[in-house]
Amino acid sequence: MERLQKVIAQAGVCSRRKAEEYITAGKVKVNGKVCTTLGTKVSGNDLIEVNGTPIEREDAVYYVFYKPKGCVCTVSDDLGRKTVMDYLPKDKRIYPVGRLDYDTSGVLLMTNDGAFTNLMTHPRYHIPKTYVVNLQGRLEKEDVKKIRKGFNGYQPAKIFFLDNDPERDRMRFELTIYEGKNHEVKNMMKELGYEVRRLHRKTFGTITADDLRPGQYRRLKPHEIKELK
Ligand code: URA
Repeated sequence: MERLQKVIAQAGVCSRRKAEEYITAGKVKVNGKVCTTLGTKVSGNDLIEVNGTPIEREDAVYYVFYKPKGCVCTVSDDLGRKTVMDYLPKDKRIYPVGRLDYDTSGVLLMTNDGAFTNLMTHPRYHIPKTYVVNLQGRLEKEDVKKIRKGFNGYQPAKIFFLDNDPERDRMRFELTIYEGKNHEVKNMMKELGYEVRRLHRKTFGTITADDLRPGQYRRLKPHEIKELK
């Protein structure tokens, strides 16, 4: 048995908060009867309707996908480009948790659990995400300080140098950020006057894709899902 608002959010209808609003506003029916009690427990056999439409329920699934560069994180693409959906099973209504850019590779979670997605992408939850950044140019000391302290509305980030040969006009480092703004890493670097040559997400929370090759995926283990939540 699960709480009504969780089941609605899990079905991908809306966020859990919105589901609560629908319930208290009398827009949700359980087995044909309006239910306005938050937290009502429902089972897999109960018929739930939101705004008159039955929700489609299926078991929650969670994957970690090693996104290769050269594909978009949408379910379909107007420009006809490859999407992450081309790599994943078609039988469940899964979708990406957040986004990576077309040319970014690395860890991408995929699920059909709307509540989980909201949790993972909500700025309040501060899930750490570590990126390997190949930068054109060399970060000035002052800019490293800014990154570590936070600047222009960006929260403090962690930086760890991997490849810092002073003879070269480029460098490689790991950057850990705790927000999930669109194009966050590239925009941060751009605002400091640098260009990202290559971007790879190494971890999302505790999850890595170290055991996968680009384009491969695997089911998350129950303990991995628990650690994220
Ligand atoms: N930041 C970016 O700029 N791009 C990504 O794909 C992910 C984080």
